Amino acid sequence: MIVTSKAILEPSLQAFKQGKPYAIGAYNVNNMEQMQGIMTAAQETKSPVIVQVSRGALKYAQDLYLANIIKAGAELNPEIPLAIHLDHGNSFETVKRAINLGFTSVMIDGSLMEDSKTPSTFEYNVKVTAEVVKYAHDLGVSVEGELGTLGGIEDGVGSGKTHLTDPDQAVEFVERTGVDALAISIGTSHGAYKFKSEPKLAFDIIEKIRQLLPDTYLVSHGSSSVPQELLDIVNKYGGSMATAQGVPISALQKAIACGMNKINVDTDIRLAATGAIRKFFVDEPKAFDPREYNTVARAAIAAEVKKRMEAFGTAGQSDKVPNWGLAEMKKQYNS
Ligand SMILES: [Zn+2]
Repeated sequence: MIVTSKAILEPSLQAFKQGKPYAIGAYNVNNMEQMQGIMTAAQETKSPVIVQVSRGALKYAQDLYLANIIKAGAELNPEIPLAIHLDHGNSFETVKRAINLGFTSVMIDGSLMEDSKTPSTFEYNVKVTAEVVKYAHDLGVSVEGELGTLGGIEDGVGSGKTHLTDPDQAVEFVERTGVDALAISIGTSHGAYKFKSEPKLAFDIIEKIRQLLPDTYLVSHGSSSVPQELLDIVNKYGGSMATAQGVPISALQKAIACGMNKINVDTDIRLAATGAIRKFFVDEPKAFDPREYNTVARAAIAAEVKKRMEAFGTAGQSDKVPNWGLAEMKKQYNS
């Protein structure tokens, strides 16, 4: 069942208010095997899911292939609520293109200029985000904005500099733009090489923003855990990623307890696939059928996503999602 991300995030917000917080993982998709792995995990754990697509993914897969692969995943798993989300939209044009492809949720990242590298001003961010909200809500599409900047660079996105979100500014931003969800900077970072030592997340900022914005869905980007066991596989079978480091699952669970609703995971899916394929080729030097190595990659992705769904508390929540597709949300936004 394809729904908006608002349909999937609202029960998470309500659960927090009832003292039973859980979050939704948003998993990046670039090809068929990733989508299949994610849907297997969602199916086995009865989890609602947000699948998200970056501009890099749209380019890699020629957007129509990717949109249809995701729609096939939804059609084959009708009982799983699924939102199709644009990750880090850089402009009004990119957002329009995603909505035309059938996306039910978009991010406009106005914390950076259109080049996705240069930090913007607050006024620029408000202006571009408010424009997108007006356009998207008229069509029933959910919108995520971003305030503050994350460390790290991934898929060509990021200034490389961390600027934590100011809670009072977050209130002004949400009031002036009308976004449904807000990505906040609390010390997480994009990519596999996030930190030099164990990260310290600013839980007090999440708590403060959650208190000031009780009805806005909060989003954590750059939240892969870069698990040591996945790095060990990559490094054992010819890789060289010794210094990679991510956000521990325990820190993400604490962020969820503070009111985080959506947790973005991309790097861990890449690592799972890469480790499985590297191992496969070392174990099977005569193999040459792409179906064989893609099969082990797909299984590794499913296992890793399943762990996130269980750790974030998403498992078992699929039947709590209301059937808020684009037509229903169009009515809600316009009433
Ligand atoms: Zn991001």
